[in-house]
Amino acid sequence: MATLGPASETEEKIEELIRAGVDVFRLNSAHGTIEVLQTRLDSVRRASRAAGTTVAVLVDLAGPKIRLGELPDGSLTCKAGEMLSFVRGPEHGTSLQKGQSPFPALTATYPPLIDELSPGDRVMLADGTVELRVEQKTANAAVCSVVQGGTFRSRQGINLPGVKLSVRALTENDHQYARWAAEQGADYLGLSFVRRPEDVAELRELIAAGAGEGPRIIAKIEKPEAVENLEPLVAAADGIMVARGDLGVEIDIAAVPLVQKRIIAACHRAGKPVIVATQMLESMHHSLLPTRAEATDVANAILDGADACMLSGESAVGEYPVQAVQMMHRIALATESLLRGRRSAAAGTAAMQFGDCPVFSAGKMGLSPSTTPPAADNSITQAVTAGAVQIAEQLGARVLIVATASGETARIISQYRSFVHTVGVSDAEATLRRMCLFWGIIPMRDAPADDPVQLLRHVIDRGEGYLLPGDRVVLVLGTGIASSRHNGVMVYEVPG
Ligand code: PEP
Repeated sequence: MATLGPASETEEKIEELIRAGVDVFRLNSAHGTIEVLQTRLDSVRRASRAAGTTVAVLVDLAGPKIRLGELPDGSLTCKAGEMLSFVRGPEHGTSLQKGQSPFPALTATYPPLIDELSPGDRVMLADGTVELRVEQKTANAAVCSVVQGGTFRSRQGINLPGVKLSVRALTENDHQYARWAAEQGADYLGLSFVRRPEDVAELRELIAAGAGEGPRIIAKIEKPEAVENLEPLVAAADGIMVARGDLGVEIDIAAVPLVQKRIIAACHRAGKPVIVATQMLESMHHSLLPTRAEATDVANAILDGADACMLSGESAVGEYPVQAVQMMHRIALATESLLRGRRSAAAGTAAMQFGDCPVFSAGKMGLSPSTTPPAADNSITQAVTAGAVQIAEQLGARVLIVATASGETARIISQYRSFVHTVGVSDAEATLRRMCLFWGIIPMRDAPADDPVQLLRHVIDRGEGYLLPGDRVVLVLGTGIASSRHNGVMVYEVPG
């Protein structure tokens, strides 16, 4: 996944990014008006047609991010032991006059901030590099001491780890962007600073008002409350993002690696796609090569079981967006050889359940074994897909084809992490795009999804040179003779 921004938003650059390996583009509502995002979305659609491939778009809603107001000099440097105060600005988030408070005074874009802070609370600025502690509250100010000094700028984010805020999950801005994204057929909506499953439900209700199925919801885990409510949030959302940027400020940064593993394991138990985000190849903002630690971070996220790794500033504002994507792609390919080895060792032994997938087995990840059964999406589909994957592996099939209306069957198959080349086909363009986020599913456009014979012919024609006489193809489909959509598995051998 790659975030689009000034460094990458032209149609030509987007096409290069697609050819370099991007499957999903993120449009960040925190850094662009609806007009800017519309231009980027149109460019993605045109570039994907030009590249002859399918890509998905995730519109990331900024959520209730609290920001500093304007500082009189644009920035402020403070040292440990100094005092600062948050005051009610004449208008919150607007400029403060010098001398308005006995200490350098700060305002915020969140009007009830002073009411909701208490002595002892931590206030983090500048991505967590500056730490303040609330010492005293008066009717109109929260006086803070500087615990860790540094420099911060006007409009930068404020994180309040552990402070219970009454702020709503969706701002008025989010409403506008969400409605626009749904109207424009965006495939996914990212929900920032989600805390409870009800936050996801609120967004679902908002977009349900529009026409069509609406975008799927990716809950971004970046608050301690979200980590506490992990299982219900995974159940409520259609996918999860490990948003390590804010997460690493909101919780102890030392806990982030294990929380990442917990989140990925929870997603896998529920059969939901999961994205690992932020600082994956950070140094590639200005360098043609990542650090060894960054390359290892990408590899470890893949070994943890992520469906997608995301580039943020590297592709949005960095000097080398295409090279960053190429590098991530190369690391993914190199790392998948280990997954393939694990999978081969496990294949053919027994029918697999999600929880048995070798990538996620408790021993290998050092995690407690799951006590939760796999999500009961549809028991027939689950059984049939498990059987299809096993048949494909046992027969050494060259291709596994899944014909799906909504994409749900492809999502379920993806959870088995099979290395059989898996092609997703559908009559619905939106379903094809959605499949781009699912690990190992390659959407194929223009395939006759409803007719197994035509479909096989189409895939064999498209796979000319890849599929040879004697090769086996496994097809998962609905037969139309039972209520379940996916109740049929066919095995086909390419004739000599
Ligand atoms: C993050 O915090 O890691 C994240 C992905 O969100 P954003 O880039 O919107 O801050």
